Amino acid sequence: MLKVAIIGSGPAGYYTAEGLLKQFGSGVEVDIIDRLPTPFGLIRNGVAPDHQSIKAVTRRYEGTQLGGNVRFYGNVEVGDAVSMDELRGLYHAVVLATGAPEDRPLGIPGDAKPGVIGAAAFVGWYNGHPDHADLNPPLDTEAVAIIGNGNVALDVARVLVKTPDEMAASDLTRHAAEIIHRSPIRTIYIIGRRGPLQVHFTPKEVGEFGELGEAVPLVDPEQLPEEGAERQLDDPGLRKTVGQLRQFANRSPGEKARQIRFLFYARPKEVLGGNRAEGLRLERTRVDGAGQALGTGEEFDLPAGLVITCIGYRTLSIPGVPFDNERGRFMNEDGVIAPGLYCVGWARRGPTGTIGTNRPDGFLIAEKIAASGVSGERPGRDGLEALLRQRDIWAVTFDDWKRIDAAEIARARIGAPREKFVRVDEMLGVVSPQGRSDL
Ligand code: NAP
Repeated sequence: MLKVAIIGSGPAGYYTAEGLLKQFGSGVEVDIIDRLPTPFGLIRNGVAPDHQSIKAVTRRYEGTQLGGNVRFYGNVEVGDAVSMDELRGLYHAVVLATGAPEDRPLGIPGDAKPGVIGAAAFVGWYNGHPDHADLNPPLDTEAVAIIGNGNVALDVARVLVKTPDEMAASDLTRHAAEIIHRSPIRTIYIIGRRGPLQVHFTPKEVGEFGELGEAVPLVDPEQLPEEGAERQLDDPGLRKTVGQLRQFANRSPGEKARQIRFLFYARPKEVLGGNRAEGLRLERTRVDGAGQALGTGEEFDLPAGLVITCIGYRTLSIPGVPFDNERGRFMNEDGVIAPGLYCVGWARRGPTGTIGTNRPDGFLIAEKIAASGVSGERPGRDGLEALLRQRDIWAVTFDDWKRIDAAEIARARIGAPREKFVRVDEMLGVVSPQGRSDL
């Protein structure tokens, strides 16, 4: 029996488990360990609350969970409850599917001021991640600056300007909705250090801005490339996106109460303000033939009581596991870190791609494990459970999660899919009346 531990229960973790079941069938025992009592990682805590159709992929992960010899151990933190060395001793293979939960630093003067918040924290807050339940972002501001031209920047802007009605069918957490929906925001700047031809947005996500109830997207026509320039682009998605941005140049600022201003060719230089963020100093850029942003020396300031950086994420390093600090992910060759130790998803390739990109990535790791020719007996699950019992660690099982899930669904406001618990104690409180599950 092959025994594999996967650390992290997000898409990369579950696709790896699916790949292992496909490769080994009943010949594999897969244990998925997560530090939260809830599974599904980025699907629950990262995907925007108004993008419920994307979240439906959890049904597939549930199929994997129930479709083979797979167990979930939630509320178990590797490095605390159990060490990496112990896991590597217990299992034939350990797969790090730990994602990239940390924000890339902006690294400009003033970026530590209150009111400068990274997307990992901000998105985690509105999605109910327990780590960020107390973030309390200063949304008592008329102007917000969002830095970055990727889909995370679009998610954040959209969630901030959608009306309560537009969010009615979402699982935006109540604590966030209360603050967001009474915010006096009038202007959101989405700031790119390069131009419209270099954005990372995808067309569907940009298209949603054309249909907002109370907010109008605006692009300065002067910042658009020459008519037809996008025809030179290889990527059809990007061609379409640029076409959509062109349409935003025809919109009128007074149409709606709120404006989303796409500002291109602007590089953040300094966060302005006294003891909290009050604005942003930017330097105008131009893009050279190689697509690089070059500073022009010309600076300008924007008001912003809240600055949200959406400039990419980093994986958390683990003592003893080789880490590429520059790229913010584990050192690896096609997902192999060392014999018996693998990484997958964002922990392997950095924070790129869609949820679906993790599927071939997970399957590849399963193939790598198959090709590694593991042999000998390992304690696997029995050894893990013995350690957890010995240390009195409360591991949340998949059945326990289903009770938390049912309780969240039961307390949802009308029209919403669920009302998430945002604190680990509340989650465990749902499980505790029937006592801990036996390991
Ligand atoms: P991203 O797509 O890599 O975009 C990061 C943006 O930040 C880029 O525009 C980058 O500009 C900019 N940036 C980086 N460092 C900067 C700096 N120091 N100053 C100013 N700008 C800086 O990352 P993301 O938006 O975090 O998204 C992560 C992944 O999740 C992506 O693959 C994304 O597509 C995916 N995602 C998908 C969805 C969806 O499908 N609905 C939703 C959310 C996220 P340069 O290009 O100049 O480096």
